[in-house]
Amino acid sequence: RVVAATASSPNEEAIERALRPKGLDEYVGQTKAREQLEIFIGAAKKRGEALDHVLLFGPPGLGKTTLSHIIAHELGVNLRQTSGPVLEKPKDLAALLTNLERNDVLFIDEIHRLSPVVEEILYPALEDYQIDIMIGEGPAARSIKLDLQPFTLVGATTRAGMLTNPLRDRFGIVARLEFYTADELARIVTRSAGLLGAPIDPAGALEIARRSRGTPRIANRLLRRVRDYAEVKGDGRITKAMADQALAMLDVDPLGFDVMDRKLLEAVIHKFDGGPVGLDNLAAAIGEERDTIEDVIEPYLIQQGYLQRTPRGRVATLAAYRHLGIAPPGRADA
Ligand code: ADP
Repeated sequence: RVVAATASSPNEEAIERALRPKGLDEYVGQTKAREQLEIFIGAAKKRGEALDHVLLFGPPGLGKTTLSHIIAHELGVNLRQTSGPVLEKPKDLAALLTNLERNDVLFIDEIHRLSPVVEEILYPALEDYQIDIMIGEGPAARSIKLDLQPFTLVGATTRAGMLTNPLRDRFGIVARLEFYTADELARIVTRSAGLLGAPIDPAGALEIARRSRGTPRIANRLLRRVRDYAEVKGDGRITKAMADQALAMLDVDPLGFDVMDRKLLEAVIHKFDGGPVGLDNLAAAIGEERDTIEDVIEPYLIQQGYLQRTPRGRVATLAAYRHLGIAPPGRADA
C-alpha cells in the first residue's frame, strides 16, 4: 500500500517528475487552494516581496510537492527541497537557510517530523528572517544572529494536527488538499497518456480515474500498468474493457479499493464484529503500521463512507458490508 501511494524507485520518481504540471493553469482540481494561491502569488509578485509561508496538508499523492514546485515557478524563484526527517541537526537547516536567495521557496516535506531542536531555529527564521547560530565550542562558544534573505517556506504534511501549535501559527496560508473527483482524475490521466504517447479513449480514462482512490499519483501509476497490459494483450489502445481487465488482474476492485483496503475492512468486520476497534488493535490484526493506516489507507475509506472514525474506534459502515458481500449483523437477508 505504501508502494501504491508513495514514489518507490528512482525510475518511478523520474516518471513522476516528467508528468508533473509546471504552471498553476495546468494543475487540475483543488479549486479552492488554486484560487487562493493565484491571488497571493500575484500580490507578492506585484510588491516584489516573498510570498507568505504556505502549509499544504492532505494524504500522500494529492499534489503537495507538485504545488510547491508550481509556487516557485509562478513566483519565478528557486526551489530548495528537503524533508523533516532529513534535517537531523540545526546546522543542516542553517546551511539551507543561509544559501537561499531573495524570495526563494524552501519546501520541507513531512514537516511534522522535524526534530524539536531544528524546529526551534525555524521560528525566528520564519518570523524575522534571522537565525541564531552557535560559534565555537566549550566556554568560548557564543551565539550570533545571522540575517537571511526573505524567503517562503512551503511545508507539507499528511495531517495538520501533527504540527506543534507554534509552528502551525507561523503559516499565513494554509491549504487543505482534497481527494479528486473522477472527472478531474480523468483529465489528469488523459494528459499523462498524451505525455507518455499512449492512445486512450475517454471511457478508458474514466475507468482508470474511477478506480484511483481520488489520488493523482495512483491514477498515473495505474495508467502505466494498464498501458503495459494493453500493449501486450491488445493493440495498445486503452479502452474501458482493457482498463477493466488490467485492473482486475492488479486486484483493484470496481470501487478502486486494493488488497489493503479490503483487508482492513474485512478485519474490522470479521475480527472485531464491525467495530468499534482501536487503531493499535487494527494495526496488529492486519500487520500494518499505525501511521500507514491513518495517513494512507483510512482517509479514502472514510471519505467514501465505508469506515467511520468514532471516539471509541473504527466502525465499518453498512456500505462496507454490502461491498464485501457480507451480511450485516441482524440482517441475514442483506
Ligand atoms: P504529494 O507531494 O502530495 O505526495 P505529488 O505532488 O508528488 O504528491 O503528486 C504525485 C503525482 O501526481 C505527481 O507526479 C503529479 O504528476 C500528479 N499530480 C498531483 N496533483 C496533480 C494535479 N492537480 N494535476 C495534475 N497532476 C497532478
